[in-house]
Amino acid sequence: MRRLPIYFLIDVSESMVGDPINQVQDGISTIIQELKSDPNSLETVWISIIVFAGQAKTLVPLQDIISFYPPRFPIGSGTSLSKGLGHLMHDLRKNLVKTTATQKGDWKPIVFLFTDGVPTDDTTKAIEEWNNNWRKTANLVAVSIGDGTDNRILGQLTDHVLQLENTDASGYREFFKWVTDSIKTSSESVEKNKAGFELANFTDDLSTIDIEKIDPYAHPVDDNFVVLSGLCQNTKKPYLMKYKKIIRQSSFAGIELGTKSYRLNGAFQLDDSYIELSDQSSRQYTVNTEELIGAPTCPCCGNQYAFAVCKCGQIHCIGDEEISTCPSCGNKGRYGSGGGGFDVNRTQG
Ligand SMILES: [Zn+2]
Ligand SMILES: [Zn+2]
Repeated sequence: MRRLPIYFLIDVSESMVGDPINQVQDGISTIIQELKSDPNSLETVWISIIVFAGQAKTLVPLQDIISFYPPRFPIGSGTSLSKGLGHLMHDLRKNLVKTTATQKGDWKPIVFLFTDGVPTDDTTKAIEEWNNNWRKTANLVAVSIGDGTDNRILGQLTDHVLQLENTDASGYREFFKWVTDSIKTSSESVEKNKAGFELANFTDDLSTIDIEKIDPYAHPVDDNFVVLSGLCQNTKKPYLMKYKKIIRQSSFAGIELGTKSYRLNGAFQLDDSYIELSDQSSRQYTVNTEELIGAPTCPCCGNQYAFAVCKCGQIHCIGDEEISTCPSCGNKGRYGSGGGGFDVNRTQG
């Protein structure tokens, strides 16, 4: 039986933490459930999941639907699309069965690339390699989630660039239903010995982007979220604090002003795969703490403040201990408490 390989190449950078990654996780498990009751898909479809942040890795190696168990998604730091693509091409080279004189090889693989951000490294070489070696051998559908994506870069990879505008739960649900339907129509097409790549009709929240019309000078919105990473003083585990941008309009002497600030969206405990998937050389965000509204408790140990900054630059949690120890550099210090509102205090030494 000839296989129809489906690859998911999924951005798991820090901005995906919380709701988006949970939606993707639920979406993938719904896809698998649905395909398990579709006879065509059961016969032909094989699925693999590759994730990328600062590094890339195979989360689920290519396998048939019956033995597929939906994975838990990790989060990493950075958005290295080039490492994601590199990992994908390596995997395709290794796993695809070629057609020879004695055997029929795999159908053209279909790759669904989901990303919500701007690549943090140079993508030129990876895109060139894709276009030279894979563009004709695989079908790539790039889906940009929200409005923070660089669609010009996606447009260099494929003619199929889609935009998911509604990123609430219902938007994601519709979107994953569309992915499921597209896999079903493609596997049906394979059964009839046709092209094996047929996307289902778009839903309301999904639109296709005209590559020709992408404004070459347009800059994606890249600061919808501020994400800060911390280390728990007690458990030594990493966690993230996510703040969402809000613009407040006010009027001063008849002039309309918009003030930008970031409101706490949540704090999330991570596991050690965060470090594995992160680009160690990547810079820390700097943000003026006056722009941040709200301070979470530590999602790892429940300490009252998850947001103390050591002089080494490491954010960590503090509780009611008299002397705090930085889990990163071991520096010991006393933290004062910021009166009224939220104040980040640096240790005195
Ligand atoms: Zn803690
Ligand atoms: Zn430190």
